[in-house]
Amino acid sequence: MSDPRIALDRRHIWHPFTQEQTAPDPVMVVSGEGARLRAADGTEYLDLIASWWVNLHGHGHRKIVDAITAQAEKLEHVMFAGFTHEPAVDLAERLTGLLPDGLTRVFYSDNGATAIEIALKLAYQYWRNKGETGRTRFIAFEGGYHGDTVGAMSLGKGSGFYGPFEELMIPVDLVPFPATWEGDLEVEAREEAALGVLDRQLDAKGAETVAVVIEPLVQGAAGMRVCRPEFLQALAARARDHDVLLIFDEVMTGFGRTGAMFACQKAGVTPDFICLAKGITGGYLPLAATVCREAIYEAFLGETWERAFIHGHSYTANPLGCAAALASLAVFEDENTLARIAEIEALYRARFQGLAAKPNVARPRVLGSIAAFEVVAQETGYGAAVGPELKAYFMERGLLIRPLGNVVYLIPPYCIADDDLHRAFDAIDAALDGLG
Ligand SMILES: *Cc1c(COP(=O)(O)O)cnc(C)c1O
Repeated sequence: MSDPRIALDRRHIWHPFTQEQTAPDPVMVVSGEGARLRAADGTEYLDLIASWWVNLHGHGHRKIVDAITAQAEKLEHVMFAGFTHEPAVDLAERLTGLLPDGLTRVFYSDNGATAIEIALKLAYQYWRNKGETGRTRFIAFEGGYHGDTVGAMSLGKGSGFYGPFEELMIPVDLVPFPATWEGDLEVEAREEAALGVLDRQLDAKGAETVAVVIEPLVQGAAGMRVCRPEFLQALAARARDHDVLLIFDEVMTGFGRTGAMFACQKAGVTPDFICLAKGITGGYLPLAATVCREAIYEAFLGETWERAFIHGHSYTANPLGCAAALASLAVFEDENTLARIAEIEALYRARFQGLAAKPNVARPRVLGSIAAFEVVAQETGYGAAVGPELKAYFMERGLLIRPLGNVVYLIPPYCIADDDLHRAFDAIDAALDGLG
């Protein structure tokens, strides 16, 4: 029996990242608990991708639900120009306390793309406020994904998602991303080649460049492509030498995903800006933060309106989102979440020994709560047929695993049980054996 609302959905709704003509009916989800989602037809799905990488501590977590409820009883929202509130102040204090020293100023918004857009605009205006009006270009990385607004998608023009929009884009120069994996012997040569391209770019156009933007340690949407901390350190040194600002997009890597609270800490690099969204509220409400160095903030101080950052969103620093974020950070302490992530990583490494031995598995990588590998198939890339085929196989078995092209990856909520992870790996093993 199909749910009558599915017919209504198909009549009125336009889903994201979906070819509506050929997509199967969406799954009607009615509730979530821990790592599980329940559909209207009673089917349970184990959420192995944290609902698009946002959920940290599981669905329906009592502490986060209670914090949102309590905040809603007090104050659901207030405009954030000329007004402030306790959850926003407390969260800014908590975030700047957790981030590396030097990242002191928080500008709130509501999603990853806006967090990036704000960093781009701040960096751009920073140079203008300092009298350097010739800086108009950005550097980003091949395969990078930073969201779907115009500035963010310009940075992501190497992702292959934005063909129709090329003429709209702001000027971005791309550098290769030196992806690596377990057992990779050529990573240093790949890094040197990438740095060579970067050096040429900076020598030619460094004085015209506003900032370099990267997803530190892991490119998410490109298929969980991992790079080494050494590369980020070399990148940061070059940015500093050329007076180019460094923007870390930690929309996906933030809040424990790579095993440290933030990837920048694991990399040993403090950028000029860090962009946070996705997991910031534990995955409960839309909220984002662009956090920058004090020197950036100071360049906007003055007597005139023109010198200020004239940017905002109706829901800037929404109190419910801030309350959820504070509760999520409290759960990190209550549940010793970073230690749990280390256990998840160890389980991945154990299971990857068998997995990596399979003839159709290539480039295995494990980092904190992220595990990924490539399926050796006829086609590769985002449109590879093996992706939908595997997704259907997993969904039939109650496993929400959604390959990116031929890349199979896991990025579950941290509350997931070992047994559930083993069930997922058993299904992955069986699926790969079945592909022949
Ligand atoms: C998802 C993502 C974004 C965009 O975030 P939205 O909230 O979807 O706009 C930006 N950067 C990275 C690295 C992401 O993974």
